[in-house]
Amino acid sequence: MAFDIEMIKKVYANFSSRVDAARKVVGRPLTLSEKILYTHLWDGNANKAFIRGTDYVDFAPDRVAMQDATAQMALLQFMQAGRPQVAVPSTVHCDHLITAKDGAAIDLPHANTESKEVFDFLASVSNKYGIGFWKPGAGIIHQVVLENYAFPGGMMIGTDSHTVNAGGLGMVAIGVGGADACDVMAGLPWELKFPKLIGVKLTGKLNGWTSAKDVILKVAGILTVKGGTGAIVEYFGDGAENLSCTGKGTICNMGAEVGATTSTFGYDESMERYLRATNRADVADEANKIKEHLTGDAEVYAEPEKYFDQLIEINLDELEPYLNGPFTPDLATPISQMKEVAAANGWPLKVEWGLIGSCTNSSYEDLSRAASIAKQAIDKGLTTKAEFGINPGSEQVRYTANRDGLLGTFENLNATIFTNACGPCIGMWDRVGAEKAEKNTIVHSFNRNFAKRADGNPNTYAFVTSPEIVAAIAIAGNLGFNPLTDTLTNDKGEQVKLDPPVGDELPVKGYAVEDAGFQAPAIDGSGVQVLVSPTSHRLQLLDPFTPWEGTDLKGLKLLIKAKGKCTTDHISMAGPWLKFRGHLDNISNNMLIGAVNYFNDKTDNVKNELTGEYGPVPATQRAYKAAGLGSVVVGDENYGEGSSREHAAMEPRHLGVRAVLVKSFARIHETNLKKQGMLGLTFADKNDYDKIREDDTLDIIGLTTFTPNVPLQIVLHHADGTSETIFVNHSYNAQQIEWFKAGGALNIIRREAAA
Ligand code: SF4
Repeated sequence: MAFDIEMIKKVYANFSSRVDAARKVVGRPLTLSEKILYTHLWDGNANKAFIRGTDYVDFAPDRVAMQDATAQMALLQFMQAGRPQVAVPSTVHCDHLITAKDGAAIDLPHANTESKEVFDFLASVSNKYGIGFWKPGAGIIHQVVLENYAFPGGMMIGTDSHTVNAGGLGMVAIGVGGADACDVMAGLPWELKFPKLIGVKLTGKLNGWTSAKDVILKVAGILTVKGGTGAIVEYFGDGAENLSCTGKGTICNMGAEVGATTSTFGYDESMERYLRATNRADVADEANKIKEHLTGDAEVYAEPEKYFDQLIEINLDELEPYLNGPFTPDLATPISQMKEVAAANGWPLKVEWGLIGSCTNSSYEDLSRAASIAKQAIDKGLTTKAEFGINPGSEQVRYTANRDGLLGTFENLNATIFTNACGPCIGMWDRVGAEKAEKNTIVHSFNRNFAKRADGNPNTYAFVTSPEIVAAIAIAGNLGFNPLTDTLTNDKGEQVKLDPPVGDELPVKGYAVEDAGFQAPAIDGSGVQVLVSPTSHRLQLLDPFTPWEGTDLKGLKLLIKAKGKCTTDHISMAGPWLKFRGHLDNISNNMLIGAVNYFNDKTDNVKNELTGEYGPVPATQRAYKAAGLGSVVVGDENYGEGSSREHAAMEPRHLGVRAVLVKSFARIHETNLKKQGMLGLTFADKNDYDKIREDDTLDIIGLTTFTPNVPLQIVLHHADGTSETIFVNHSYNAQQIEWFKAGGALNIIRREAAA
């Protein structure tokens, strides 16, 4: 049902020749990452060696995956593209919109009611356009992808930053914004700056209490949250081969926490075992035929310092368990030091909750190792001091773990089994008492632990660790507990020690499932009706943006001159606004509400030039729009950094902002502006930022001869009657200028589809 062997065969048919061509062009042996990148060039065979960290390259990904929160806008945009079907295999996974509270039996029906219209929309739009649909409760996107779709040597994009999890099965899998996903589904190339490469050489073998999670927790401590930016992290060495496939997935998953573009491992026997266990023997057979190409060249791994931009070496024999946190995933503390470090920093030692799950650590192996600790606790007369919750990664994992008694073991220790979904990991956790904002500690097996992430309480100290350490610490109820050395007092008053965890890489009796939760799309979806209520406050069909009027833009009002950092969060906040991700007009009410107004140092408070009164940014912009006036947003350096969220570009476009003029752009946001038909401009002289006054009216001159590499001019009309002209640069190429003229890239795609 779920995977597409014909597509994989097609990818593999060209793999060897493309690797050979790339090796010739590059003139040296290749890493695995390079092999996957060069075999997925949009133009086919490589004809030049790309400069890492510099060249922008067009790629042809094999797959697209979307989660329910981000899929809404991606698919609303795709509907605008006018294509009858998606151009590459694509899937939607309903996992983010399910609140964890009382356990799956109550929480899932509740979510199905609460978010019914969103789920119905996603199901119908998937059905229409040939997209596989995974229902609420089917599992977390990245576990489901690993179980069903990931394949060695493949390239995929997904509208979620932990798409990188699929590197555990040897893919280059990258998180993107909805606009990129829309392009690829519409059959367009996908552009990426050719990444730098970080090699991680693993030697030895995990033992005792250490797990794959500890590899990435240690790497996060070394690289920090920014250390992987713009790079692919490639793991290799005998230690890598000793890891399970899902363990590799855990490591790749948290590559997102070091900012890496993605992470990957070479094809090996653990991957073959996993493919066969998950009903994909045919994929394993095909991969085996070209397996020498599905890993880096031997010369690379023999002298890695020559081929990687940075090299890290970790000996798994010596690795110890880590707890990372609080409030950041790169603050790594070895378990042997936690007692002292926590005391020195005033971190609360009493642990309130232990949570196992998330796309990072919810595999069968994860549950089985944690269950072995839970079982020991029961056998040795211990109870959990902390509360304990489990989110299985998929229905297949849940069903199998239930059959094998693992979930029963957790329940015997009073654990709550939550839905196969993200739950507390994305803050969808109705935690009793969180609103009191008391200082407290939780431990979890997730990937992120920023303030407020799990329960909204800024005083929750969250520590990231492996599932087995979560289990041990939840039982002890103490952050400083070290199961390698410490004992616990049981119900008879005896001192007992927990033995190291044991578990099964794969279920001995095989995976099983009754209803995995997959809904295949209609073969011919042309008659399928997409379900969106016109009165919905969560979903809204998009109208095409209007094309450029063919003249220079005159009489534009200054909406805001933003001061300092202005990230996509400042432009389009998340949190409570998440629920409007599928409704452009409603979510536009958060436009720029986090940006600081240069003229009064306040957020969401700008002068309405028509009335002279100060008010919220969205309302002021709506007033300009109602008066038939366009506006300009002015910003500082690196405007739009952060996520690839397309809402940050669509909202100003929707509300009638015509141009964003800044000292410099974060590139992805700049591209998103271009895709939506906006003008993204930069000051030719950054000092001109100081010339912008609060009451300015602006004219943008030169658009009738808009040409690549030719600056435009802006005339600033000041309120005192004076005016001055400044030069502004742009980075539009010929195609992007066409996007501007057409009113957005989608208008062109639709026009081409209709032709
Ligand atoms: Fe994102 Fe957490 Fe869901 Fe993973 S489990 S996809 S990290 S919200």
